[in-house]
Amino acid sequence: MARVKANAKAPATRPVRCYHCGHEHEVAARASRVSCPKCAKSLRVENVTIRTTEGWQHFQTCGRVTILAKGKLVAQTVEAQLGIEVRGGLEAKSYRGGPVTLKKNAVWRGDCVAPSITVEPGARVQRSAFVIGAADPGR
Ligand SMILES: [Zn+2]
Repeated sequence: MARVKANAKAPATRPVRCYHCGHEHEVAARASRVSCPKCAKSLRVENVTIRTTEGWQHFQTCGRVTILAKGKLVAQTVEAQLGIEVRGGLEAKSYRGGPVTLKKNAVWRGDCVAPSITVEPGARVQRSAFVIGAADPGR
């Protein structure tokens, strides 16, 4: 049975934590970018899907990152507060954030600080230093 307009009860806001200054605040549920009310810096708060090769200096979001099979994320630092799922490649100096999932055929290179990691058979990890089970960084 279909329910009437599901978003009637969807929360209008959700909590995020600024990755510049650590300030916790609420943003509109559908917001993709906001300015932190405390430090006024631009904050990416959306879930991001990487479909092709993307190069960044510092890749940061308060949401989740999914790297599709043909996608590759190349960056100095990667931060995804809600976690990252890799089907393609990630090449970074360091990752910090939520749980890491490496799917079959994923290729990971980068030091990693995360609360947990799941590695499927067939995923490859190149020379990297992992700290798993750390408290959520930044808290
Ligand atoms: Zn801030």
